[in-house]
Amino acid sequence: MRILEERIRKDGIVRAGNVLKVDSFINHQMDIALFEEMAKEWKRLFARKNINKILTIEASGIGIAAIAAREFGVPVVFAKKAKSINLDSDNYVTKIQSFTHGKIYEVIVSKKYLSPEDHVLIIDDFLANGCALMGLLELVERAGATVEGIGVAIEKGFQRGGDMIRAKGIQLESLAIVESMNAEDGSIEFRK
Ligand code: 5GP
Repeated sequence: MRILEERIRKDGIVRAGNVLKVDSFINHQMDIALFEEMAKEWKRLFARKNINKILTIEASGIGIAAIAAREFGVPVVFAKKAKSINLDSDNYVTKIQSFTHGKIYEVIVSKKYLSPEDHVLIIDDFLANGCALMGLLELVERAGATVEGIGVAIEKGFQRGGDMIRAKGIQLESLAIVESMNAEDGSIEFRK
């Protein structure tokens, strides 16, 4: 998606360790006009799918997913990072390894908000090694719901998550795919 790529080039900062900082428009300050354009693009790309719910993960997916949910006219549920105290039989639970912090944490979704009738679009800000998305897929599977697709804002195409998700036959729509980036000169190349 052209405007997202241009924005990443203009305001994204490449950090050592394969981290792309987009704090000025996605991860700290949020550009809602940009989120609206992204939401419209996902609506177009998933036009053939019958989606009744959006699922994301706290915290950085929530803003994008909320604007997408308004575009699709459906509710948005976010998987919560759990304290052991919340782990009861009312929740679906899975473990996720964090790309940015390296830690393993548990996430939950209440059984009240995900059920076998649901046709889910998963939305997240970044796709790197795919741990976050694999965790969300597992929660949907536990609920007996159907995954209709996955929308990602920025995929780092040089990490393995994208290939892993596509190999499952799931429709994955990443609005910008970074092919390579260099922390030394700050350059970023996108997949054509
Ligand atoms: P994965 O689970 O695919 O390895 O990583 C996805 C999660 O890690 C995303 O939800 C995002 O919060 C975070 N993440 C991964 N790579 C980056 C990055 O380069 N920049 C930022 N800002 N977040 C990232």
